[in-house]
Amino acid sequence: MTNDTHWMQLALLEARKGVGKTAPNPPVGAVIVHHGMLLGTGWHRAAGRPHAECEALSDVLEQHGRDALRGATVYVTLEPCSTCGRTPPCTQSLIDAGVARVVYACVDRHPEHAGRADALLTTAGIAVSSGVCRDEAERLLRPYFKVLATGLPWVIWKSAMSLDGRITRPPGEDRWITGEPARADVQQLRATVDAILTSGATVRHDQPALTIRVPELLEGRPQPWRVVFSDAPESLPLEAPLFTAPPAPRSNWIVARSRPRTRRPHRHDRGRRRLFRRFVRGRPG
Ligand SMILES: [Zn+2]
Repeated sequence: MTNDTHWMQLALLEARKGVGKTAPNPPVGAVIVHHGMLLGTGWHRAAGRPHAECEALSDVLEQHGRDALRGATVYVTLEPCSTCGRTPPCTQSLIDAGVARVVYACVDRHPEHAGRADALLTTAGIAVSSGVCRDEAERLLRPYFKVLATGLPWVIWKSAMSLDGRITRPPGEDRWITGEPARADVQQLRATVDAILTSGATVRHDQPALTIRVPELLEGRPQPWRVVFSDAPESLPLEAPLFTAPPAPRSNWIVARSRPRTRRPHRHDRGRRRLFRRFVRGRPG
């Protein structure tokens, strides 16, 4: 493993902390290194909060002071941004900090940023390398890239199923078809998504709450939106756990007709809520 790969792996670990928390922005991580020593780390915590590079710059400033940044190398999992959004462009922050080299894993496919960082940084005298751990970074960013390319969210299909293909137990038996370890995995999976989709039949029969119930998994993020597709939304039982169970506030669920009576929404309308990662669970109907 080269040094660049080693440090980028650390940046990827930082980026993973943001999965499920950053929509509509992607999860990004950064580390800053000088003379082979790790000076600071950062990850993007939420939209509107500083980007990963700026979090890492602040970490170094706090721990070591401004001089430590002179000549340092910044490893970041996504090409630094180059236009003003809700935060100033990271390319300018890196230039102002006086770092010597920027290494990023993959190009940002957002049309406002794609490929622009290299020219801005090299013009300012900063060496730039890209493509380090690219495949791994792109895997982490698949939901973000899918929304950019199609306007549609990344969807994960999840189903609990027995080896003989059953998805429920016979009437009168325990409601769970899965064991504790599988349900713990589901909690982890829920923490990576913005919304959980299910059907009216599942709400009626299985009585799920579809919430994140592990407090540590809720740190820095709200409960996912719970979206119910139903042919008869008016007959959904409002006393069902999905609508009443704590700690979910009643305000974070959406009921949608599974067969809309109006024309199908344009594909960009369907991405409008910017739910990047959705998680589908449920019986048909
Ligand atoms: Zn940025």
